[in-house]
Amino acid sequence: MDDLSVPPHMSPDEFRTYGHQLVDWVADYWTSLPQRRVRPADPPGAVAAKLPAGPPATGDGFASLVDDLDTIIAPGLTHWQHPRFFAYFPANTSGPSVLGDLVAAGLGVQGMLWATGPACTEVETVVLDWLADLLDLPEKFRSRSTGGGVIQDSASSATLVATLAALHRASGGDWRAEGTRRRYTVYTSTEGHSSIEKAARMAGIGDAGLRLIEVDEETLAMRPDRLRERIAADVAAGAVPALVVATVGTTSTTAVDPLPAIAEITREYGIWLHVDAAYAGSAAVCPELRAGQVGLEHADSYCFDPHKWLLTGFDCDAFWVADRAGLIQALSVLPEYLRNAATDSDAVIDYRDWQVPLGRRFRALKLWFVLRWYGAEGLRAHIRSHVALARDFAALVRADQRFEIVAPYPYALVVFRLRGAAPDDADRANAALLERLNADGGVYLSHTRVRGRYALRLAVGSPRTTAADVAAAWDAIRSAADAVAGGSSV
Ligand SMILES: *Cc1c(COP(=O)(O)O)cnc(C)c1O
Repeated sequence: MDDLSVPPHMSPDEFRTYGHQLVDWVADYWTSLPQRRVRPADPPGAVAAKLPAGPPATGDGFASLVDDLDTIIAPGLTHWQHPRFFAYFPANTSGPSVLGDLVAAGLGVQGMLWATGPACTEVETVVLDWLADLLDLPEKFRSRSTGGGVIQDSASSATLVATLAALHRASGGDWRAEGTRRRYTVYTSTEGHSSIEKAARMAGIGDAGLRLIEVDEETLAMRPDRLRERIAADVAAGAVPALVVATVGTTSTTAVDPLPAIAEITREYGIWLHVDAAYAGSAAVCPELRAGQVGLEHADSYCFDPHKWLLTGFDCDAFWVADRAGLIQALSVLPEYLRNAATDSDAVIDYRDWQVPLGRRFRALKLWFVLRWYGAEGLRAHIRSHVALARDFAALVRADQRFEIVAPYPYALVVFRLRGAAPDDADRANAALLERLNADGGVYLSHTRVRGRYALRLAVGSPRTTAADVAAAWDAIRSAADAVAGGSSV
């Protein structure tokens, strides 16, 4: 590295040495998780304060980078792969996923067109067909039929793409054409994900065109009668309903919207139906957990996140459409510099037309690795173990008179709270309980509001979580409840 005009590229042999070292590092990190706090206790700015003011003028040794991983990065993280991480929804990963990603990074392929990465494109098509089989999705979503699947970075992107395709279809091409006075409307339930509102904003529909439909008090699922009323009123007022987003497994409580009744309405009015199963979709690898997707044969598009619960590292959202031609019409723009014989032949898929960005990486590789490593039975065993642990946890909560479960738990999320006669006092007690529980770093849970009231969420999702971890979480919850009831300060 003496000649400063020559970049100090890492040689293949150096890469091999340091690569092996870092694979060891990741394996050691995973093994070390039970000994770590789930979240750091440091205040904001603690990590940044440990970093130098600028990058080095000449390259650092690799050893000092690895040191920093140990002393700055790992201690400064919330450990999503920790066996006692029960917050939000999981974002689990696995050895095969990480190794698939490593290969994708090494290949460094940019698969915007079939021609820029034939295997990148074709493996993605095949893997999403496999996945459709594994989840028993409707035939029309397969590439051999009229539809097909594509990997998006996240469910939020899938929802945006569905919104754009729906608007394209509803407007015959240009929903923002000058001079049209039509107003387009988008529907989801009050429990629908925030990404639906964001997509409506980005698509130019704005908050004014978004309709949040009331949910059933008991199940927290969208009320089809209210959806029908709202659509009829909008149509009467001259609006054009373009999209309904139904959710299978809402973020707050995993409520399941009634697809058959919703689809009856969307078909009657010719509205695009997108089904968002970001978290719960993974459960459908198990036949006994497919109740939520009854009626999906009437949907125009569907998505779920293998990066939440299917052992495939972030980011990986699987998105299917029933009519790929409609999607491509909505998103395709073909400049001269991307023209090529394969595209012109119409014999290939160019996934750039199925997503917002142009460029794309080889995400299918990690999913392919995961499906091949675990097999269908392995994935089912994974999901079933979490569903069983969540049910065991729910039984513990139900057996304790101080607590109540506030929503159905068809998957591996249990939403519960301390009971209380005065609602505001109960909210304060539950918030204090969560703060105390999470403060010592032994476990990590998150919260939501259900019917306006504060509630705790425990989602089982780490492949390392065992019955002992769930039992420890319950012990910690009970002790925190004792402390809160005893009035000791948090
Ligand atoms: C998590 C979640 C999303 C957003 O997921 P991203 O992949 O992070 O965009 C959307 N919808 C539901 C129901 C979710 O639970």
